[in-house]
Amino acid sequence: MLLVITGLIWFFCYVTPHLLARIYVQNFGYGAILLIASLRLVPGRRTRPVDRALFWIMFVFAVQFFPRTALTAGPNALFSARDFGQSPFWQALQVSLAVLGAALAFAILAAALSDLLDDLRRERDNDPLTGVLNRRGFEERSGVLVARAGGASVSLVLCDLDHFKSINDTYGHPAGDDVLRQVGAILVSEIQSSDIAGRIGGEEFAVLMPDTPEEDAAAVAERIRKRIEHQTFDRIPPSRRVSGSFGVVERRSAESLHDVMVRADQLLYKAKSDGRNRLARAVEEERPPASISSLKLAAVHVVP
Ligand code: GH3
Ligand code: MG
Ligand code: MG
Repeated sequence: MLLVITGLIWFFCYVTPHLLARIYVQNFGYGAILLIASLRLVPGRRTRPVDRALFWIMFVFAVQFFPRTALTAGPNALFSARDFGQSPFWQALQVSLAVLGAALAFAILAAALSDLLDDLRRERDNDPLTGVLNRRGFEERSGVLVARAGGASVSLVLCDLDHFKSINDTYGHPAGDDVLRQVGAILVSEIQSSDIAGRIGGEEFAVLMPDTPEEDAAAVAERIRKRIEHQTFDRIPPSRRVSGSFGVVERRSAESLHDVMVRADQLLYKAKSDGRNRLARAVEEERPPASISSLKLAAVHVVP
């Protein structure tokens, strides 16, 4: 488009000199370029406010080239070189460029800053080894989810790899890293997009599942357990199996994320002491007597 515009300006400058034609070519041409650029920024449902602002400023900037030119330059205005600078067209052009140009520059700056902040936040909250969230990211997002959950069921699965130290000691730290990476991938492939997964310790993972009762969370955990058990890892001989122990809990009403994690952790240790490579689940009594429920006792079922 720039080439076409340049060609036309050259034509109306040197072949058939025509100021008004040059004005229309430039304004409609630049308007069209900006319009096409702005259409590439059309906001979707998940567009950030700063990108919406950028789109609208760009769009208004693009569209105003057409009516402004037509209204101020008219169909057959004749400017002399002397009074061109005093013409309504020139005045309107200056104002629109100053106001909208500055607004556009600010919007681009804000969007670029926002991109930078998003990148930094992503780096801060993600575990580069496994691609899932790190402890900080997991706790922040899970905290928000739990606070908003109200009466809906939310379940938490904790998973700690078994005898992981001996994997490192036997096959080396890079092999251990490789296991962590693949376990992270298994986790991500087994959960839903609304679930929150994180590596919250060296070889400990957590998944928070909104709108998920304990039975369903346990079924997901069991699938993950089986996949880890059957997975062959690149730097480890197939004869050496890797496994994980799991604690599965459903949040009680008004319980904080911290309380849920403490309960899941206790179950995780129960799964370890019961022999590892298994789930430990807390299944609440249907209707516990008041004295017992006030002690928050739970019957622990261990699923081998
Ligand atoms: P258990 O079955 O009781 O959980 O035994 P374990 O050996 O898995 O547990 P322990 O806590 O004794 O050891 C955890 C090991 O995880 C120790 C540490 O070297 C290793 N580890 C922690 N973070 C990383 C990591 O990022 N990469 C690798 N390769 N190893 C890690
Ligand atoms: Mg551990
Ligand atoms: Mg471990």
